[in-house]
Amino acid sequence: MKEKIAVFPGSFDPLTLGHQDIVLRGLQIFDRIIIGVGSNSQKTNMFPIEKRTGWIKEVFKGNSGIHVETYEGLTVEFCKKNNAGYILRGLRTSADFEFEKAIAHMNAAISENIESVFILSDLRFAALSSSIVRDIIRNGGDARQFVPDAVKKNL
Ligand code: ADP
Repeated sequence: MKEKIAVFPGSFDPLTLGHQDIVLRGLQIFDRIIIGVGSNSQKTNMFPIEKRTGWIKEVFKGNSGIHVETYEGLTVEFCKKNNAGYILRGLRTSADFEFEKAIAHMNAAISENIESVFILSDLRFAALSSSIVRDIIRNGGDARQFVPDAVKKNL
């Protein structure tokens, strides 16, 4: 049977427990997940791409089904390059849904063979976002409870 490969794209600035949960649950559906750390987003990032990527590698090290790569440009092109037939995204709120729906429709319009798949956030992480973690850090708070151990170590 054809290997089921998904790309999980994002900025992961930084990776949170919510992202980690989506990846681990995604592995129950897909044979391989490529975490695509976007480097051309219009967002200005708090953490450099090397640090964001390094954290993710550390969090999932020893897990042969999970790969981490950086990319620029269209997510669908990154999928094609990696023979991925699926784009995995997490959904927390109806606002996430509306936003993701528009992107998924556009991706479907420009690329026929890539399916977007959504996993609902775990209740524990439904209010968690990288931007909240960044706000806490920026204001001198302690955000360690929201991130995996490897991120915690040098946040
Ligand atoms: P982007 O810059 O593309 O929004 P993010 O790093 O913020 O990238 O998020 C990547 C993916 O992870 C998105 O699908 C987002 O909805 C999902 N995500 C982020 N935080 C959570 C969370 N707490 N629970 C579930 N999914 C999440």
